[in-house]
Amino acid sequence: MNGALTVVGLGPGDARWLTPQADAALAAADALFGYGPYLERAPVRRGQSRHPSDNRQEALRARAALERAAAGSKVALVCGGDPGVFAMAAAVCEQIESGPAAWRTLDVEIVPGVTAMLAVAARVGAPLGHDFCALSLSDNLKPWPVIERRLDAAAQAGFVIALYNPVSQTRQWQLAAAFERLRRYLPATTPVVFGRAVGRGDETIAVTTLQSADASNADMATLVIVGSAETRLVPRPGHTPLVYTPRSAIA
Ligand code: SAH
Repeated sequence: MNGALTVVGLGPGDARWLTPQADAALAAADALFGYGPYLERAPVRRGQSRHPSDNRQEALRARAALERAAAGSKVALVCGGDPGVFAMAAAVCEQIESGPAAWRTLDVEIVPGVTAMLAVAARVGAPLGHDFCALSLSDNLKPWPVIERRLDAAAQAGFVIALYNPVSQTRQWQLAAAFERLRRYLPATTPVVFGRAVGRGDETIAVTTLQSADASNADMATLVIVGSAETRLVPRPGHTPLVYTPRSAIA
């Protein structure tokens, strides 16, 4: 039997955001790999082995999944959100590129998922309604000066910025430093959205301004959207304001 590897995005948490394709890929696998809390989201199927691993073990996890697929199993490697956004699909590609030749003949499929910034944006309106970019604030895999350069460029170019990985146990100062950086270029009133654990039981959404944005309100499960100078709020009696970025921009 030929093995195969499917990298499956589970979405941000709400089961309704698991696509039918992702659901089918989980059901078809005979071995499931992934970070423990994500694996717990996959329904248990008899005869299917489960291989939870720790966070930040991406390369090891990708290799283990590839080895298993090369040995003939149908492997599903799961991750939160979309697998191509700061997640396992790139880790798998890295290992396929540098690993044994046999890994390059494997069937590999990437199953997309709803990424966190789309789920958070949908909660508040349409902050990503015009040009935007996504940036990981983690300096585990890139030096901090590179992040600063990208923040400067994105803000000056007028992009709305979605910040992934704003905080972790070992990275506590980066988000405050990023806000400080962005205040150089953007109006104090620029809307900032904190979306925490969106789609899960403990979800919280907060809308504030760049001037008042407090980095201590974010944790590892938070996605932060910083608007552009065009992003605005529409007040609505009896409802939370809509945050949106108009579709057109002036020169
Ligand atoms: N592949 C994932 C991102 C992995 S990076 C995706 O496409 O969504 C991990 C970061 O994603 C977290 O630090 C946080 O910034 C964001 N994130 C993941 N799930 C989230 C959720 N349910 N709510 C808010 N942010 C989330």
